[in-house]
Amino acid sequence: MAGLSLVGIVAGLGWALLAGAGIKEYLGLPSLVGREIKQYERYLGLPSLVGRKKKASLLYIKERVAAKLQDGSVFYAKVSNGSFAWKSILKGRDVISKGVQWRVGNGAMIRIYHDSWLPDPYNKRVVSPRDFLGNKALVFVLIDKEHRCWLPEAIDNIFLPHEATAIKSIPLSLRECEDKMFWPHFPDGNFSVRSAYRILMEEELKESPSPSDLSPTKRIWKGIWSLRVPNRVKTLLWRAGTDSLPSKANLLKRRVLTDDLCPSCNLKSETSFHALWSCTELSSFWETKFAWLINLSKDCNSFVEVIQLCQANDDLFELFAMTVSLLWTHRNHLRVGDSSAPLWKIQSMALDSLQEF
Ligand SMILES: [Zn+2]
Repeated sequence: MAGLSLVGIVAGLGWALLAGAGIKEYLGLPSLVGREIKQYERYLGLPSLVGRKKKASLLYIKERVAAKLQDGSVFYAKVSNGSFAWKSILKGRDVISKGVQWRVGNGAMIRIYHDSWLPDPYNKRVVSPRDFLGNKALVFVLIDKEHRCWLPEAIDNIFLPHEATAIKSIPLSLRECEDKMFWPHFPDGNFSVRSAYRILMEEELKESPSPSDLSPTKRIWKGIWSLRVPNRVKTLLWRAGTDSLPSKANLLKRRVLTDDLCPSCNLKSETSFHALWSCTELSSFWETKFAWLINLSKDCNSFVEVIQLCQANDDLFELFAMTVSLLWTHRNHLRVGDSSAPLWKIQSMALDSLQEF
C-alpha cells in the first residue's frame, strides 16, 4: 500500500484557503507572514497575500501544513474559534482521520480510542471503554519497549475480548520504528475526494439503525463498565452477555463435553442464560430482590436481553452484577465438587461485597 500522499491531502483540503487566526497560531507562522494575514483577514476571513512576498508566503504556509500533516499532529489540533477556513480544514481532517489507517510502529503517534489501527476490516477503531487509560492514551503504553512485544495481560484487562485478540495479533517490528499512516480506500493508497465522500456515506449508513448496528452492544458495555464493581465482575457480566463463558452448552460446542444438561435441574441445556438466570432452580433465588426483572424478562431468550432490561434500573444494576458474579463462582465450585456458600446466602454476600468495594 502506498503511503498517504501529502500533496493529495493538501489539495483535497483546499490548502490555498488556509488562513485565519487559528491556522496562523497552529502553524506557528512568523510575525511577518502573521501580520500580513492579520491585515487582510477581515476580507471574507481569507488572506490576501499580495506583492512579491505572495509566492514565498504561500510556499511557506504550504510547507508548514505539509510538516504538520507529516508528523500527524493536524489530527490532534483542537477545534477552536478559528476562521471559516480553519473550521473547514478541521472538518476535512475529521474525514481523513476516519479513513486513514495506521500501521503500528512504536505506537507513539496512534491514539488508542480515536484512530483506526485494529486489523479488523469491520471495526478498525477501539470501542472498549476508556476508563482505564483515559481518552488520550497512545498505543505505546500497550507495548513492552524492551522486548518489542505487546503487554498481553494489560491488553486482556483493558479491552473487550475480540479487541484484545485483534491487538495482540498485530505484528511488532523487532527494531523500533515510527507509526505509519496509509489511506486504504483507494487502490494507489492516495487520498481522493471521491474516496473521502465514500467514507462519509459509509459512516452515515453505519449510524442509521439496522440489524447489524453495533451501537446497542456498545451502550450495554458502556453501562457495564461504568458500574462501581470490581473489574472481574464487569468482565464476567460481559462474558455472560456475549455468551462466552465456559457453560456446558459452550463446552459441548467445542467438543470438550458430550452433554450440556444443566446439573441443577437436569432439564435443559446449560447456556449462560440458563445457568445464571432462567434455570427453575434459581427462580426463588432471583425473586427476593429481582421479581420485577423476572416479570420484565418473560420473553427474553438471551442473557444480554436481561442485562439490558436490568440496566434501565440504575439502583439495582450493581447488585445484579455482583450477584451474577457470585452465582457463577458458586456454580463453578459445585461443578468441581468444592463446597460453596448456599444459594440463599449469595444475595447478602453480594450486598456486603458492594459495600466493601
Ligand atoms: Zn437448570
